[in-house]
Amino acid sequence: MARLIDSGPGCPTPTPLRGPNAAEARGLVYDDAVRAETDHLYPLVQDFVTPMEWPAIAPLVAAINRLKAEKNAVILAHNYMTPDIFRLVGDFRGDSLQLAREAAAVDADIIVQAGVHFMAETSKILAPQKTVLIPDMRAGCSLADSITAADVRLIKQKFPDYPVVTYVNTSADVKAECHITCTSSNAAQVVEAIAKEWNTDTVILVPDQYLAKNVAAQTKIRVMTWPGACEVHEMFTADDVHALREAHPGVVILAHPECPPDVLEAADFAGSTSALANYVAEKSPHKVVLLTECSMSDNVAAENPGTNFIRPCNLCPHMKRITLENIYDCLVKGEHEVTIPEDVRVRAKTAIDAMLALPRMEKPLAFETGLKPLELDMVV
Ligand code: SF4
Repeated sequence: MARLIDSGPGCPTPTPLRGPNAAEARGLVYDDAVRAETDHLYPLVQDFVTPMEWPAIAPLVAAINRLKAEKNAVILAHNYMTPDIFRLVGDFRGDSLQLAREAAAVDADIIVQAGVHFMAETSKILAPQKTVLIPDMRAGCSLADSITAADVRLIKQKFPDYPVVTYVNTSADVKAECHITCTSSNAAQVVEAIAKEWNTDTVILVPDQYLAKNVAAQTKIRVMTWPGACEVHEMFTADDVHALREAHPGVVILAHPECPPDVLEAADFAGSTSALANYVAEKSPHKVVLLTECSMSDNVAAENPGTNFIRPCNLCPHMKRITLENIYDCLVKGEHEVTIPEDVRVRAKTAIDAMLALPRMEKPLAFETGLKPLELDMVV
């Protein structure tokens, strides 16, 4: 129900203070049925959603959860989703590879990818018989967009004796041209394994130059790379780390390996999204900073109420294209479907399977911090 301003005596038609909110615009209201279905969920997001905002959010949450049951759909929610999506409608939560594995295993007809386009493609690669939907086709990624399949073909022509490893943050077309994929949890393990398999001392790791430099510092294998970067993580600097230590004595600083190497040099701990979340859960630091995407900090904070989070985070504009509203629309209309030509899908799956065939690590590998940054040769 729209709130009305008091327009005073003599005015026959009160003027609405605001238009309908996103739920009301879709005919969804905060009625008794919605209250009964959702009010017990509010404590999960109470640090991020005010009591005033809840009546606008709860009807969308209730409707999405009903639609999932009706359509046998599941929502894969990446760690960088806002807490309302991550905690209230996500069926599976985690980093991109965890989610793709869930996609392959889950008994559902429809997968809604609450994440960016390359993640939806990875789900489709591993679960070709399922319908994969993404709520906004424009949810891209600066890293994935930095390299094309044609670029990889040229790299392979120029360096035929070296294997090409691609970070999973790339399109299906790019994965299809590479020999093996890696994640930030297992990049060093993959680089060493493929070097051994090819009997070479040099491996090409694309497209993230910072991940490649950070991996190179952890291994004796020579790494060459490509000038791509994540626009969110490359914004952090070593000066930020020093300023945080000065402003917050005793703070523990955790960095994602997509950050520049001098940031990892200055940080206390570095690792993949999962490794950062595990570190906070296991060590329970009193005060912590996660140098990564903002919603990741929010979601880890919600799981660790005893830790004080300082949040100098950066927002990923691509991840933030996904909202409760467009998840609802996508389920109602069955849009936007992500498809991949079968020959590309099969070759991309070969690269992912090569990674999955490696011994599974019990825990994501941590990156040693305090190491001097390395300069690497570029393949362009
Ligand atoms: S956080 Fe970086 S790597 Fe992840 S989707 Fe955004 S731009 Fe891409």
